[in-house]
Amino acid sequence: MEFHVITLFPEMFAALDSGLIGRARQQGLIAIHAHNLRDHGLGNYRQVDDTPYGGGSGMVMRPEPIAAAIDAVTAERPGLLKILMTPQGERFDQPLARELAGHAGGLLFIAGRYEGVDDRIHELVDRELSIGDYVLSGGELAAMVVIEAVARLLPGVVGNPESLAEESFGDGNLLEYPHYTRPEEFRGMRVPEILLSGDHGKIRAWRAAEALRRTARRRPELVANRRKP
Ligand code: SAM
Repeated sequence: MEFHVITLFPEMFAALDSGLIGRARQQGLIAIHAHNLRDHGLGNYRQVDDTPYGGGSGMVMRPEPIAAAIDAVTAERPGLLKILMTPQGERFDQPLARELAGHAGGLLFIAGRYEGVDDRIHELVDRELSIGDYVLSGGELAAMVVIEAVARLLPGVVGNPESLAEESFGDGNLLEYPHYTRPEEFRGMRVPEILLSGDHGKIRAWRAAEALRRTARRRPELVANRRKP
């Protein structure tokens, strides 16, 4: 899948050169292209922002450079879903990640800065996404969050697809069961005996019960919406 981002800080996307996503890029499973909004800036100074009509603090991103950047990217890839990153958007979550992973035409993110974008840009996009109820200085990190969550759901990106089903917010829509590794005892805390038993049926049942118990304690609202296997 192709991910495109319109941003004033394309260099930030080098952060996605590492780990699982970096490997997926190297293997050609995904491609991430960061397009510099400044290339579409206005005049000699490549201006992309201006003072707000009506007064007030801060600067607002002008619509023409963003529209020109969207046109330039989508001219070559008309199937891209255009997504504006904004704290005022629909809240991003795992079901939405799954939905976006199904969009074979690829995703185009618009990362805002300053006080955000001129409101008329809303008419040019397909969706508006927020990664949570807090305000970042720019949409780059928010776009990276969405890219990483979506990319790991694509075929071949995560080595063992079963691990995706078991993960938090996976098939059952619960939090995942607790994990342990060596040593068997750490600072007086022992690994639950059942995990050392070698009885895979009992281990499966224990994990299912732990996932439910943990979810009920930490995120009770998820238990009501759980999907039973
Ligand atoms: N003035 C805007 C408001 O109060 O709604 C906030 C603008 S914010 C400082 C600048 C940019 O960061 C936004 O245009 C958006 O692209 C991005 N951003 C900030 N918080 C975000 C969030 N929670 N989710 C997605 N994008 C966010």
